[in-house]
Amino acid sequence: MGKVLGITIVLSALLGVSSAQTYSYKDFKTPTEGQSEVIGSYANGCLLGGEKMALSGPGYQLVRQSRNRHFGHPKLLTYLEKVGIEREKRGQLLLVSDMSQPRGGRMHNSAHASHQNGLDVDIWLYEFTPEAFKSSYIEGFGVPSVVDKAKGTVNANWRREYFNLFEDLASFPEVDRIFINPVIKKELCSIDENAAWQYKVRPWFGHDDHLHVRLTCPEGAKDCVTQAPIPKQSGCNADLDNWIKDQSDVAINGPKPRGNIAPVAPPPLHPRCQMLFEPAK
Ligand SMILES: [Zn+2]
Repeated sequence: MGKVLGITIVLSALLGVSSAQTYSYKDFKTPTEGQSEVIGSYANGCLLGGEKMALSGPGYQLVRQSRNRHFGHPKLLTYLEKVGIEREKRGQLLLVSDMSQPRGGRMHNSAHASHQNGLDVDIWLYEFTPEAFKSSYIEGFGVPSVVDKAKGTVNANWRREYFNLFEDLASFPEVDRIFINPVIKKELCSIDENAAWQYKVRPWFGHDDHLHVRLTCPEGAKDCVTQAPIPKQSGCNADLDNWIKDQSDVAINGPKPRGNIAPVAPPPLHPRCQMLFEPAK
């Protein structure tokens, strides 16, 4: 045991890796106690005093509950409850997937780079009425993609009503941006390019069966690192077509060979996140 630990320390020193990275955020099964605070950025941060979203409430339902990623800053929980009420008015359920781990931070075995500081959430791009939703769907339902990537168009799974889901999600002022596949963004543009919230919806690869909502930093959160504000332009432009073409090229020809790229070490943790891994004094 001592020898293994010794080797770890020597290796860490050689590689310049901080000891925090020999631990994992997923080992934290509970939030820290005390006031909720967002620390660091969306892609390199953590969450103190995280709050757990209720499994269900008016107009919303959590899914993939077993992952234990339903923690967030109270601003995120309040936001989701408000969107749930909007969905309820439409007779639909908001399907809430990954938020953050109990103390945020990097997720292992996951495609997420962000979701680290309690302000990001994934929403299924799918509709269920409250009556049609079965508890077996929480872990067992697979949302179909709505995009034909090679063709660069939506497929038969796309529904015009999903525009309303974007409207319900994006209209709240605390929404900083929403990431969605460029093909879906193009579809939203074709329905209403002038929607007041259209500028918040940004193209990103993947995101063809769910969308990703990001909130702005809570007021007065001194250690929350924000992103540059996005220009208030619809984003319904030629650049969107370039995204779609790039995605189509990859779908048809496979990813471009990138040669040997050395793995990049993750950036150092915010000092207040680092403290989560240090023994209590
Ligand atoms: Zn996401």
